[in-house]
Amino acid sequence: MRPSRGTGASVGRTSGVPWAQASWGVTEGCTPISEGCTNCYGLAMLRRFNARALEPTAPRCHPERLEEPTHWRKPRTVFVSPLGDLFHVAIDADYIARVWAVMARCSEPWRVRYLQTKANVYGPHKFMILTKRPDRMWSILSDQRFKDEVARLLGRDIPVWPLPNVMLGVTAETQEWAGDRISTLVTTPAAFRFVSCEPLLGPVNLRPFLVDLDWVIVGGERGPKARPMHPAWWTRIRDDCAAAGVPFYFKSHGEWVRNVYAEPGGAELLKVTLKKGREVILDADGRGTFPVNMERIGHKAADLLLDGDSLREMPTWEAR
Ligand code: SF4
Repeated sequence: MRPSRGTGASVGRTSGVPWAQASWGVTEGCTPISEGCTNCYGLAMLRRFNARALEPTAPRCHPERLEEPTHWRKPRTVFVSPLGDLFHVAIDADYIARVWAVMARCSEPWRVRYLQTKANVYGPHKFMILTKRPDRMWSILSDQRFKDEVARLLGRDIPVWPLPNVMLGVTAETQEWAGDRISTLVTTPAAFRFVSCEPLLGPVNLRPFLVDLDWVIVGGERGPKARPMHPAWWTRIRDDCAAAGVPFYFKSHGEWVRNVYAEPGGAELLKVTLKKGREVILDADGRGTFPVNMERIGHKAADLLLDGDSLREMPTWEAR
């Protein structure tokens, strides 16, 4: 795949996600693969930044950005490819090996000399990679030739494998995708694993997988066409994580919150409809359980309702 000019928007110190201190746009661009992609933020950004390009959202690699983490002195948690999917079929495995080699170099602190006698200590950095294509991730990372290629690029043996500073994750926006993707994730060689239920589009039972997970993120959808998230969907995941001792991070309600004042109760609430207006009625499981009235108030107002830091737990990066 040919490198190309990038947006520049995904590079550097701020990541655009609250749980990382930097983003690393080694690839950009993607193609939708499931319901969670319908209102993809990354593709929307690329359409805006690359408005004059023929294929503004086409997957592409950015080798000129590969060395960026080696220039960051303070240790950072880095979100990899925030405007794309690193494991998209259009990204060569050889290029992914180059990404892994940089992450391997950043797994331990390193000294950078300046003047004649002085040196600064850089890193180490932690990297988080989220994909909706765990099958390809599995097939690449399970292949001994991939590890050999990373070692060759590194110029030495890899001290710890899987890399101890890399956390792999999949998106699980519905139960169907949760079962499919997480069962592949848990068999993929990884030091740490996480699941992102964002945007959460239906009830998801993570209980069977929690023993193999190190972190769970949940969030509602944002944007003009955002779909609502029933409170029972995310509170169930929160409670299951608490019971299993898995850190739980509630990112956002999205654009919609429950409006208890507009719930008269009664049979009409059992209907699940997405109206054109600001209000929608959802139930917890599609079977008429726990109907609630959701109102679109915008993500800024909805964020004010976040329940403090207690819902924003971070992974420990320690073996469980
Ligand atoms: S996989 Fe991720 S980056 Fe790709 S279209 Fe879907 S949401 Fe966007």
